[in-house]
Amino acid sequence: MQKITFEHVSKYFGTVKAVNDAHFTIQEGEFFTLLGPSGCGKTTLLRTIAGFYRQEEGNIYFGDRLVNEVPTHERNIGMVFQNYAIFPHMTVFENVAYGLKARKVGKKEIEQRVMEALEMVELTHLRDRVPSDMSGGQQQRIALARAIVIRPGLLLMDEPLSNLDAKLRIKMRTDIRKLQKELNITTIYVTHDQEEALAVSDRIAVLSDGCVQQIASPHEIYAYPRNQFVANFIGASNFIDCRVGAIDPLTGEAPVELHGIRFPLKLFRPGEGQALLSVRPEKIRIETGQTKDTLIPGVVRTVTYLGDKVSYSVDLGGQQVIEVQQHAVEPEHLISEKQKVYLDLQPNKAVLFDQEGKEVLYNATAHHSARS
Ligand code: ATP
Repeated sequence: MQKITFEHVSKYFGTVKAVNDAHFTIQEGEFFTLLGPSGCGKTTLLRTIAGFYRQEEGNIYFGDRLVNEVPTHERNIGMVFQNYAIFPHMTVFENVAYGLKARKVGKKEIEQRVMEALEMVELTHLRDRVPSDMSGGQQQRIALARAIVIRPGLLLMDEPLSNLDAKLRIKMRTDIRKLQKELNITTIYVTHDQEEALAVSDRIAVLSDGCVQQIASPHEIYAYPRNQFVANFIGASNFIDCRVGAIDPLTGEAPVELHGIRFPLKLFRPGEGQALLSVRPEKIRIETGQTKDTLIPGVVRTVTYLGDKVSYSVDLGGQQVIEVQQHAVEPEHLISEKQKVYLDLQPNKAVLFDQEGKEVLYNATAHHSARS
């Protein structure tokens, strides 16, 4: 169980800055996820922590210990990769015992610790089998047992569930989280899957182009995205161009105009001019009649039925198509394609960014994570 600190860490490949000034701390026992699209630098940062790469700039500390010059095998890390990286010709037991043998642990203790680890991943009954005839999920459990059996101070996982089917991924992520809590082991987890990140993490760092965009809890990152990139990457969002007027000194509110409607919002700071309203599809109400004058008319272009929810693409004209989601809709209440509808964007539940999508001008609940 260890605290990990990054002090202005940067890693280059030629002219590419794969990790750009990482500067944050991961707490003891925390499940911390590096999340971002392909090429954003997740794996490079993880490999730098493991000591496979040496950063050109900055310092990494494990607890109070500066590890810049410490080789991988002396960092006391357990690692799990996407491709399992287990030995196909060795039995499950031998695979898990491997790291302990290398550390010259006695035979009796190896037996006890391997069985303990196999019990944690529910594989004791397969101890004498070879992994080559086992399923992907079972192979990943072996890899997990092998990582934890050495009692590492830090567990690193790089897309460990990517090769598994959707159902198994959900089961495994729950199991990994449970095990991590039981062992109370600091864990750094890499994924490009936002749902997975939201499901397992204590905190998430969203990365883009090597830069940390935001670090926050799953709820905070969903409800208070710091910029357009985060709002777009975590969950779906519609971005609608709008115009912001001057703040009224009496009310403290500024008028925001879009698609012919006008509504007042209490902004964090003045932001006169063009801006971007970010509205989650599930926050929009869709009506078939104009029940109030703040609704925006549109036409349904596509209807996608997804079982527990239905997704509509609604054309508002002016090349603006909005995604709207409704949950638990009875089939007889489905709206059909080409039907005229009216959208309540509920702007007071949305997030308003400046024109570049870099800064938050408004969020329903004033919150430090969106503002700091
Ligand atoms: P993915 O999800 O696709 O694995 P990632 O977020 O893990 O992506 P990285 O693999 O860390 O991203 O890559 C970050 C950047 O560094 C990319 O531009 C990549 O092309 C570059 N890069 C990574 N490894 C190397 C390398 N060994 N040599 C040169 N460039 C590299």
